[in-house]
Amino acid sequence: IPAGYRPSPTLLAGRTVLVTGAGDGIGRAAALAYAAHGATVILLGRTVEKLEAVYDAIEEAGGAQPAIFPMDLSSAPEADYEGLAKAIGETFGRLDGLLHNASVLGERRPVANTTWKAWETVMQVNVNATFLLTRAMLPLLQAAPRASVLFTSSGVGRKGRAYWGAYAVSKFATEGLMQVLADELENTSAVRVNSLNPGATNTAMRRAAYPGEEPTGNPSPEAIMPAYLYLMGDDSLTVHGQALNAQ
Ligand code: NDP
Repeated sequence: IPAGYRPSPTLLAGRTVLVTGAGDGIGRAAALAYAAHGATVILLGRTVEKLEAVYDAIEEAGGAQPAIFPMDLSSAPEADYEGLAKAIGETFGRLDGLLHNASVLGERRPVANTTWKAWETVMQVNVNATFLLTRAMLPLLQAAPRASVLFTSSGVGRKGRAYWGAYAVSKFATEGLMQVLADELENTSAVRVNSLNPGATNTAMRRAAYPGEEPTGNPSPEAIMPAYLYLMGDDSLTVHGQALNAQ
């Protein structure tokens, strides 16, 4: 990601971008940043009030009218993903960008003491839902001239660490899905896919993972948005199949 990258204010004008986990943390900041750079943003998340607050903030800032799609990724059946694709297809005809951002941390403890339920939930939200949403959105992404798919990784998705259990494994799987997809789409499609590790960022998830840490010692979600904008817009057209860091 180019140092000091400054996106054009119209970077995403006329684009439709779907953001998961758009109600809070990094997803919220990304939804606002994409809208501020011209995108029509589809806000997906599980807490409707949070999505509505982001919707209002986008409208107040003069952004294009967003769409809200409430969905609990831990329990949504396969058909809901197809329903979302149908709705987006009917309204927009294509999808220019997809930010897979929603994730859960789960419990951090030794593998030996990890419960099946906790493992299953983390895999469901962080991996299975990402697969289902990717598969459902691919035809719409391929209908766009230059679509970008961004998977959210983590430092522990590139090197395992004790007690990070299912979360770390889910991020390795996310990297794997990105790589497999990148290879499949290479030279055959205008869709590019990459993974991005936001790095330590001051959000509810980070505060839960590191309760003893001074929260303001980490960058805010807003501070890491240049990377999210770069990878979503045409300045990253040649970047494909890469595992990148926002910081
Ligand atoms: P937050 O916990 O602050 O936000 C996560 C978002 O995902 C929330 O909007 C949450 O919704 C949503 N979400 C969680 N579970 C579901 C579900 N079952 N269905 C739908 N939406 C759901 O996390 P961050 O903003 O910190 O993390 C964003 C991404 O960045 C994640 O993929 C995370 O793994 C990654 N990351 C973050 C780091 C950090 O330091 N913050 C470091 C490395 C990676 P709700 O608000 O309704 O709960």
